[in-house]
Amino acid sequence: MSNNETLFTRAQKSTPGGVNSPVRAFRSVGGTPRFITKAEGPYFWDADDKRYIDYIGSWGPAIVGHTHPKVVKAVQDAAVKGLSFGAPTEGEILMAEKICKLVPSIEQVRLVSSGTEAAMSALRLARGATGRDTVIKFEGCYHGHADSLLVKAGSGLLTFGNPTSSGVPADFAKHTMVLDYNNCEQLEEVFKSKGSTIACVIVEPVAGNMNLLPASLEFLQTMRRLCTQHGALLLFDEVMSGFRVALGGAQSIYGVTPDMTVLGKVIGGGLPVAAFGGRADLMQHLAPIGGVYQAGTLSGNPVAVAAGMATLEIIQQPGFYESLTKQTKKLTDGLSTVAKEVGIDFCANAVGGMFGIYFTHTVPTNYAEMMQCDKNRFNTFFHLMLDRGVYLAPSAFEAGFVSAQHDDAIINETLRCAREAFTQVAA
Ligand SMILES: *Cc1c(COP(=O)(O)O)cnc(C)c1O
Repeated sequence: MSNNETLFTRAQKSTPGGVNSPVRAFRSVGGTPRFITKAEGPYFWDADDKRYIDYIGSWGPAIVGHTHPKVVKAVQDAAVKGLSFGAPTEGEILMAEKICKLVPSIEQVRLVSSGTEAAMSALRLARGATGRDTVIKFEGCYHGHADSLLVKAGSGLLTFGNPTSSGVPADFAKHTMVLDYNNCEQLEEVFKSKGSTIACVIVEPVAGNMNLLPASLEFLQTMRRLCTQHGALLLFDEVMSGFRVALGGAQSIYGVTPDMTVLGKVIGGGLPVAAFGGRADLMQHLAPIGGVYQAGTLSGNPVAVAAGMATLEIIQQPGFYESLTKQTKKLTDGLSTVAKEVGIDFCANAVGGMFGIYFTHTVPTNYAEMMQCDKNRFNTFFHLMLDRGVYLAPSAFEAGFVSAQHDDAIINETLRCAREAFTQVAA
């Protein structure tokens, strides 16, 4: 048995499924998950000492590459001063100021420890501020695992959703409506009949949890207009897209301004930091000023904030996103070209440092189209790439991530592996 197999067998005895987050278990692609021992730049190594080019980057946070010396130093310096105080620090002010500066729609921000917590708290705030209960989300978008957000579409338009997890009371799901991504007509229709009851619309402006699927500009503009008309709030969940597709997030690309934004992943630079923020008048509803309760023992943790701040400093450097976008496009264009030469139905798409690969002939524009991608072909491709030392997301329906350390040599090596893999998939 390989060390990975031994560890996986052992892990399953003390932890459900052997992992602390389900997608890590390789259930979708089959096989044994790799247990990671160390990482550097664009690479990580598994328990059998095999090296991989990493296209997950911890699902986004490793945007400057793994173990960047400046980030590691910031963490070390913070750690020796104390790991956690349960009292405020200046670092938290610096972080809040930085976020407000980089994302102008955020006038005030609250730091928390995970994207789930941030989205859950933002939702409570939206409900508290509007005095309404109904939430609209879209099929295929993920906003963490708060009860109100683990909901899928009900049987018909204008009916309320069903839980996607056992343990979520149907009564909670009743307050969430699930609509089709990129469907403006449906949104108009729902607002027409239920507009006055809707607290907020929550959306991933560039969806990254059903593979990569950018919203159309019209879709985001439509929800902005409808929310304003009906007194509902617009929440952009930029936990994945924030500081990933552009320095100012997806909202800076589309020019659509949400009332509130949820952040995570990149802002922690690999440690647990997430945040929600927005218009100051809305944020004033939060405790200790307002009546919407929210708290956290480790919120704004000094070591985590240090890692996040060091990461934000690096990505602010001129040319960072131009270069990241160029490398990501080099990868997706390269993959498309190779696939075409091999003669396989495949396409790819990229926004900033995020990408999607699709085993189908045209880039999907909604959840239903995404589900038409050939999952079996992806799974075969995934394992062929893994064998060759390229670690892609272990699911056909997750996005991929490029870091600033993915240089031309890394991209070319990936394309060389992809040519072999595509050829075998096509055979
Ligand atoms: C990852 C993610 C979350 C959840 O963040 P966690 O830190 O895993 O709880 C929420 N929303 C989006 C868009 C995400 O990609």
